[in-house]
Amino acid sequence: MAVYLIKITFAPPMQEISELYSLLSQPRKVVITTHQKPDGDAMGSSLGLYHFLKQFGHSITVISPTNWAAFLNWMPGCKQVLDYESQFNAANNAIDEAEWIFCLDFNTLSRTKKMEEKLGNATATRILIDHHIEPQVEKFTYGISNADKSSTAEMVYDFIVGSGNGDKINEAVAECLYAGVMTDTGSFRFPSTSSSVHEMVAALKKTGFKHSRVHEELYDNFLENRFRFIGNVLLHRMEIFYEYNTALIAIPQNDLIKYDIRTGDTEGLVNYPLSIQGIKLAAIIIDRGEERKSSFRSKGNFDVNTFARKYFNGGGHFNAAGGQNKEPLEEVVAKFKAAMKENKDQLSDYQF
Ligand code: 5GP
Ligand code: MN
Repeated sequence: MAVYLIKITFAPPMQEISELYSLLSQPRKVVITTHQKPDGDAMGSSLGLYHFLKQFGHSITVISPTNWAAFLNWMPGCKQVLDYESQFNAANNAIDEAEWIFCLDFNTLSRTKKMEEKLGNATATRILIDHHIEPQVEKFTYGISNADKSSTAEMVYDFIVGSGNGDKINEAVAECLYAGVMTDTGSFRFPSTSSSVHEMVAALKKTGFKHSRVHEELYDNFLENRFRFIGNVLLHRMEIFYEYNTALIAIPQNDLIKYDIRTGDTEGLVNYPLSIQGIKLAAIIIDRGEERKSSFRSKGNFDVNTFARKYFNGGGHFNAAGGQNKEPLEEVVAKFKAAMKENKDQLSDYQF
């Protein structure tokens, strides 16, 4: 009779983030970091936490693994954020000296690209605050992961209030956290927009920050070339598959060069076809040269997180996910069409 030895390994659970509350008042060297190509929530939650922690006298460095969209530059503190790729030595020194490293808005260290190894080997205590499923819990000493939360900005807000420091939410904290929660909820539209989100916004508003300014800075700050580019994309690069309630945008690298497209210029583009009647799944695949980056958005009961994991080396949330592939654009497009056909049953069955 064969004897099977089954090795079961348990990931050590992260300690509750509330254990940090009593330690906040003792100044430390702190690094705050987030995922590559940070979006409004990644940058907003990081800088919101930065402006909060600063008030205790901590010495804090915020590091982004890569560059970011210009429409985030208005955020207070953004100009001091280090770009790991272009400010490598300064960022590495800050990581070497850090006692705490807050990791915001990502679930696995691989989401920090070239910073992954440095973060993984750091001697500092790593702390996770995130709302993506399946966090790499063994990598963090303290942490909170809750996929039901609208945004990491909301979780930073909960952390601040939970620690009994709600009075430290000043205008800068409020502006950054508002930008995070507003962008990650699609301007308070997605199902994740709970009553707690609205209560949080009400509390933030009491600091006097101007929410209209935040919307303008984020959404009314583009250059003409981006609109010409979008016009071309919608006219020539979008395919609709009504039988599958699906839309696909595939963008060759030449388009990015021709229209001088920069980081952030393609953000939100995947949502355009979702406003076509009946469309339940929208996908965009962009040839960025070094990789083919995909984004998926769905409405209702189609799970793009599983879809992105299964076919595109990615992940994310139920209705918003992404991935990347090394194959040429045509192959990734073919892969998408095959995956769409494989999922025909789920795509044709719409439920809220
Ligand atoms: P976006 O489409 O805006 O890049 O990302 C949408 C969501 O999917 C975000 O929550 C993001 O964290 C997640 N996501 C995007 N790309 C990847 C990826 O390559 N891997 C994983 N695990 N998640 C991703
Ligand atoms: Mn987020």
